[in-house]
This record gives sequence, structure tokens and C-alpha cells, in this order.
Amino acid sequence: VVRGIGDDAAVLRLAAPVLVTTDVLVEGVHFKRDWGTPRQLGRKAFVTAASDIAAMGGRSVFALIDLRAPASTAVVDLDGIYRGFRDTATRAGTRLVGGNTCRAAALSIGVTLLGEAPNGWVGRDGCRPGDDLFVSGTLGLAGLGLRLLRRRRGARGPAVRRFLEPPSRLVLAQGLARLGGLGGMIDVSDGCLRDLGHLCAASRVGAVVDAGRLPLAATYRRLCGDDLALALTAGEDYELLFSARPGLRRRLIALARARRCPLTRIGRIVARPEGVRVLGAGGRELRFAAAGHDHFRR
Ligand SMILES: [Mg+2]
Repeated sequence: VVRGIGDDAAVLRLAAPVLVTTDVLVEGVHFKRDWGTPRQLGRKAFVTAASDIAAMGGRSVFALIDLRAPASTAVVDLDGIYRGFRDTATRAGTRLVGGNTCRAAALSIGVTLLGEAPNGWVGRDGCRPGDDLFVSGTLGLAGLGLRLLRRRRGARGPAVRRFLEPPSRLVLAQGLARLGGLGGMIDVSDGCLRDLGHLCAASRVGAVVDAGRLPLAATYRRLCGDDLALALTAGEDYELLFSARPGLRRRLIALARARRCPLTRIGRIVARPEGVRVLGAGGRELRFAAAGHDHFRR
């Protein structure tokens, strides 16, 4: 940082290539204010933006925040959002170098991140038939938490916490990029099947998911039984979905252990004409009605 917050613009010295992404959380669209604390909101604003940097195998370095709020918003709430954002960013080695505050009808937190990929960046287009398909963490718990929050004000528990406090996969992602031999990668923000569809389209391949291998949290199993709809179609997991050459399995297991984050082989990449399919017990194809979150669906 040549010049940080306080001048008209920040002045940064960057070594190319630079990863750039932007994301926004909007009240009434992504959250309701009584669902969680301002701190959780600030934290989530960083993590959801950083998830796209992670999906490129990079690390975030600089952040800009665009905070808009109704005039009635308490200063202590705005402080909480900033603090949650800044603390999480700082822990991830990311410096807040600028921002903007503005009055608006609804509360929103826009985040722009600049990052770098010292181990090389990983695109969506690197999947090849024969690759293993992996996902980090577990699937569907955040979607379950959102469902619980919508159903009952003041809902609590592991699923709600997972929705309000998504994990950051930045460190894991850099470990993955360091391995080499990775295929394509995307973060699961709009639902596993939908994002897998994006990954396969970019790579011009198909994929087969083994339903029996999907990583589900204990709370998910308890409340959803063997209903996989949320795990495969609900958004906001912010896990990493990637393909890897089969020779990488051992090193992936070691990385998962070192980073204390499960990496589960949920299927494989196949040729494009086979499409994207989910197979249940006995190889029976399972179909899911709403394949993921559509931002413009009413
Ligand atoms: Mg993404």
C-alpha cells in the first residue's frame, strides 16, 4: 500500500496477475437484520466475496467496502459490520484500503477484493474426463439453516450458524493450487448441481455424482434424513468444488488432514455427451426439480 484509506483513492503496488472480484449482500434479498448480529453480517460479506478468490486458488490481499444503510441505522450496528468485516479480512491477510458509505433505502454491504495467486490461478475450464470430482466441507447445511430462519424467527443451532457464519476456504484453496494437477475449480454459492453445471460447461465435459458419497453434516442427516435436495440444490455453502487427476488422491487426503477440512470424492468427470448426472443406489439416476439458486427468479 503506497497510500491507504484517507486520500481520494488508494495507491497500490501490484505484481501481475491480479485477481479481482466483487460481491454484495442486500437486506431483504440475502439477509434479514434480525437473523444475526451486525458482526456476523460483516464477517459474511468478506467470506462470500473471498470465496470467489479462493475458487481461483488465490489469496485476497486488498479489500474495498461499499456500505449503504437507511438513515435510521444505529451507528453501533454499522460499527459492528465494519468490525466483523475488518477482523475477518485481517485474519485472512487482507487489508482494507478504501470504501464508501452512503444513505440508501436498504442496508447493503458491497465488497471488492483484489487478490493474487502465487501458485498459479485455477480456472473453471480445466476439468478433463477421467478426473476425480471433489468437494470440501459438507453440503446443504447453510441451505437448511436458511430454511429454518425463514420458518421461525430466532431459530438457532448448527445449521443456522453455518448460514450466518460460512467458513473461509482461502487457506485450503492455496494448498490446493500448490499441489498442481488440479483440473477446474468453482465455489458452491448457488447450489452444488448448478455450480457443477457451470464448471462442466466451462470445461466442455460432463460429470457423474455418486449420491451416496455426498458429505452431509450430522445435523443435516438428522433433520433431512436421506433427502438430498438441499445438499444438491441449496445455495450458500461456499465450499470448493474441483476436479483433480486421479494420481492426486493421496496428496489430497494429506492436505485435508493438514488443513482440518474434509475433502470428499463425490464423483468423476466424464465426456460431455453424458451430461451432469446424479446416481443413487444401484446406479439409478436421481433427478432434482430446482437445480440451484437463480438470482432473478421471483
Ligand atoms: Mg463463485
